[in-house]
Order: sequence, then C-alpha cells, then structure tokens
Amino acid sequence: MEQLLAQVLAAIEPHRGEGKVADYIPALACADPGKFGIAVAGADGVVHGAGDCDEPFSIQSISKVFTLALALTRVGADLWQRVGREPSGSAFNSIVQLERESGKPRNPLINAGAIATTDALIGDGDGDSAIAGLLAFLRAQAQDDRIAVDEHVAASEAATGSRNRSLAWFMKTYGIIDNEVETALDAYFRQCAIAMSCRQLARAGLFLAFDGRDPVTGEEAIVWHNARRINSVMLLCGHYDNSGEFAYRVGLPGKSGVGGGILAIAPGRGAIAVWSPGLNEFGTSAVGARALEQFVERTGWSVFAGLANPTAGAT
Ligand code: GLU
Repeated sequence: MEQLLAQVLAAIEPHRGEGKVADYIPALACADPGKFGIAVAGADGVVHGAGDCDEPFSIQSISKVFTLALALTRVGADLWQRVGREPSGSAFNSIVQLERESGKPRNPLINAGAIATTDALIGDGDGDSAIAGLLAFLRAQAQDDRIAVDEHVAASEAATGSRNRSLAWFMKTYGIIDNEVETALDAYFRQCAIAMSCRQLARAGLFLAFDGRDPVTGEEAIVWHNARRINSVMLLCGHYDNSGEFAYRVGLPGKSGVGGGILAIAPGRGAIAVWSPGLNEFGTSAVGARALEQFVERTGWSVFAGLANPTAGAT
C-alpha cells in the first residue's frame, strides 16, 4: 500500500496546485493549493499515508456524513420526514429548489439538508452538547483525542454565512427547523470547522466500510443498515451537482468539503481520505478527485468492479 500511495503521489505531481481555493469563507482563503495528502485505513485498522497526510485541514462538508450518522441513530427514519434522499443536481448552497419543494431539502449532504440534520441532532438538547457528542464520536472512531473545532474558521464562517442563514430561515418558515435558527447554524458552522488530517479522517470513516462496525474492535458505531444507507446517499449526493461525474470517475461513495478534503468509502475494504485545497467549479478538490481516480484504477476498489476484473487497470 505504501508503494501504491507513492505511485498515486507521483501521478498527481504534474497537477499539484490545480483548482481554486475557497475564499467565500475568509479563514479558508489562505490555504496553500500546493498541499496534497492521502491516507488509507484498511480492515486491520492500519492507516497508510503519503504526502501531507498528517496536516490537519478544515473538513467542512465532510462533517455532514458524521452528523447524518449520529442524527439517524438519534431520531431514526423520522429524519426523512424533514430531509429527502435524492440527488439535488444543484449547487451546495442553492435556494431555488427549497422554494419549489416546500422547504424540504433534497438530501442531508447539501447545505440546507445538513443544517436540518444538525437541527435534528440537537433535538431538545443544546448545540454545544451536539458538537461535543460529534467530537467524541470522531475521536473514538479515529482513536485520536486531538480532533477539535478550529474556532477561528467557525467564527469566520459565522461572520460571512449569509447564504446559509437564508437557507435556515427559509426552512424555519416551513417548520423544518425546530430550534432557534442561530442555534442550528452555530452548531453547523462549528461542525464544518472541525480540523482533521487525512490519517484521522480515513480512520474515523472506517466503520462506514464495515457495516457500521469498527473492523478491529468489532464495536458498533452505528447500526449496519444505516451505514449502507449513508454510503448510498454519499454515492448519489456527496459532491452536489458533480456527484454523477465523481461516481463515474472514481466509483466510490464519497463526500467532499470546500476545505479540499474528500472521504471515500470502499465497502468491505477500507476508507480513503485525500486533501488538496484547490477546488473544481463544483467545490470538490480537483487534485483530490484525480488522486482517488488513480487510487481506484490501481486497486480495483470501485463498487462497480466485477469479479472478473478485481484489480482493474481500466482506462
Ligand atoms: N461550511 C461550508 C458552507 O456551508 C460547507 C460547504 C462545503 O464544504 O461544501 O458553505
């Protein structure tokens, strides 16, 4: 695996620095587009990494996968009353679809759906407890207590998050948000501002590749059917209006964040995290997606791979 990651690193080298760093959240604008990291956690729990795989970055929307996992555990299938599970075909922060569809977001991985999901996770508790629970979950899965919220990034997004505020207030008028709008938003901004390295993220996502259980300890993180459902939502909705392209090119459930990270899940095999801050026009890491494509081409870990061709090499 170390060798394979070195090959992936070499393959992306000519593209290093491609894409545009997100600057609509001022604290993210200073990220270095030349950074690139990749880490893979396998069934034995060992995490292999290459490049800047130990450097923490802002996980942003990748956090939506973990709040979805916790919210489904907390409220069960009732979550689908207020959030759908269909691809949106729209930008991550689009508002038009919400009006056409009575304030119900298409899925939990677009901003509106994620804010509604975080609101469900808070329930009748408070935002601080929800974030503390999320951090405890991530630390336990990653087996690393250093994972924390970058308060500078959270404050930066809170100060500039007018679009997310609009989405939340709009949903409030339809009764999709139960808590005070600012309570839901504050928790949402803080979950997006969690900083993790590729190594931590790959280890934290491993339960999704093994039916909700940690493959090493056997401990259940979430119930198996929720793990499968989250993977399906990631495959169809994890990259906003670029989800089809990602599924076509990479062939794995994945979730991108505007910090430049992507978490990809290879069911039964492992979890892969990549990071490179330059984004394509849809908000997905340009070099990160390229690296995952290279990784899957070399490993054959696509969910669409047939038994006749398990180790790929396809073009
Ligand atoms: N915090 C970002 C926002 O709400 C998340 C977007 C993303 O990572 O795709 O705009």
